[in-house]
Amino acid sequence: MIPYGRQSIDDEDIASVVEALKSDFLTTGPLVERFENAIEEFTGIPAVVVSSGTAALHCAYSAIGLTAGDEVITPPLTFIATQATAAYFGAKIVFADIKLKTGNIDPELVARAITRRTKAIVAVDYAGHPADLDVLRQIADEKSLYLIEDAAHSFGSTHKGLHVGSVADLATFSFFPTKNITTGEGGAIVSKDAKLLEKVRLFSRQGLVRNPSEFRVKDQGSWHQEVHEFGLNYRLPDILCALGISQLSKANQLKQKRKEIFDTYTSRLRGVNGLILPHQEIDSDVNWHLYPIRVQPEARMKIFNELRRQGIGVQVNYMPAHWHPVFYDLGHRRGDFPLSELFYESEISLPMYPNLEIDQVHAIADKLLQIIDIYKNERIK
Ligand SMILES: *Cc1c(COP(=O)(O)O)cnc(C)c1O
Repeated sequence: MIPYGRQSIDDEDIASVVEALKSDFLTTGPLVERFENAIEEFTGIPAVVVSSGTAALHCAYSAIGLTAGDEVITPPLTFIATQATAAYFGAKIVFADIKLKTGNIDPELVARAITRRTKAIVAVDYAGHPADLDVLRQIADEKSLYLIEDAAHSFGSTHKGLHVGSVADLATFSFFPTKNITTGEGGAIVSKDAKLLEKVRLFSRQGLVRNPSEFRVKDQGSWHQEVHEFGLNYRLPDILCALGISQLSKANQLKQKRKEIFDTYTSRLRGVNGLILPHQEIDSDVNWHLYPIRVQPEARMKIFNELRRQGIGVQVNYMPAHWHPVFYDLGHRRGDFPLSELFYESEISLPMYPNLEIDQVHAIADKLLQIIDIYKNERIK
């Protein structure tokens, strides 16, 4: 089965990890800072690395002081971690529907969802395509809200020439194997706000204060460290930072390969009746994490199953968050966010990863076109 996504690991990556394994530090050694500096060099934004994209979101919400009764506005079309980590602070999850063109949260609907209790707007760069960051930034500034960007899909994408994460108060990345670069498990938070980033760092490292000038317990020896606010252990080990540094050094080549696959799919599938291809806004240079096509909802299940049957490991991203029983129990219902629902019910993610051969892309396109032809009359259930 050709998977929908997978890591690209080469001999350099392996050598880097082996070197880390032979070093003095398996975790919390020099490679952490080196990986963070490399991310800053690549994105232009200071970074803290953590153990997953979920941890990164948890840290971001912690840094803005999210608390019970606060509201965060999020898109339904995302992985549930976007919401779960905010719900853990007792925040109320508010949804704003998406724009069908990109799958990203619709700023107009965000503006309408703001109340006195709103603390943050959370945008997700669906499939790697940057959200409407400038418009969201303006709305956030007008209402004194935080803008958080779940950039789990979009490492390496730029919006108006700036790397994703540049206009949000905090942005989070995931380095899960299917994502644009990987550390196995891993993630990062970037922010130009030094205070917010320091809060992220403390929360991700047990809240341990190590700077003597900040100590409140002043009569201890040089071993001393102390906690002012609780934190957790979200550290990324040196072993994985070694992989991250190596992956990052070829992030642009990996992006180029994704782009070639994107362009090949697009040239093969453009203009086909009943098939909607991913859209790219001219102000964005996308590092495509997914290749999300949309078909007739009535035919989606059959096309999906037939592709799988033929060895093409397609995926669906995502069932709208408000359809999860955890949100049903809070009163959300099918029909509440029709555009996310339509997007979901028509979506199929085609295989997309740097080591996918262009021949394979053509073979997938051939099969898809055959299958779509068979089901093209399936408009009625
Ligand atoms: C992958 C992903 C996450 C979570 O990242 P992990 O590293 O798997 O914890 C969060 N949000 C979105 C949109 C994702 O795709």
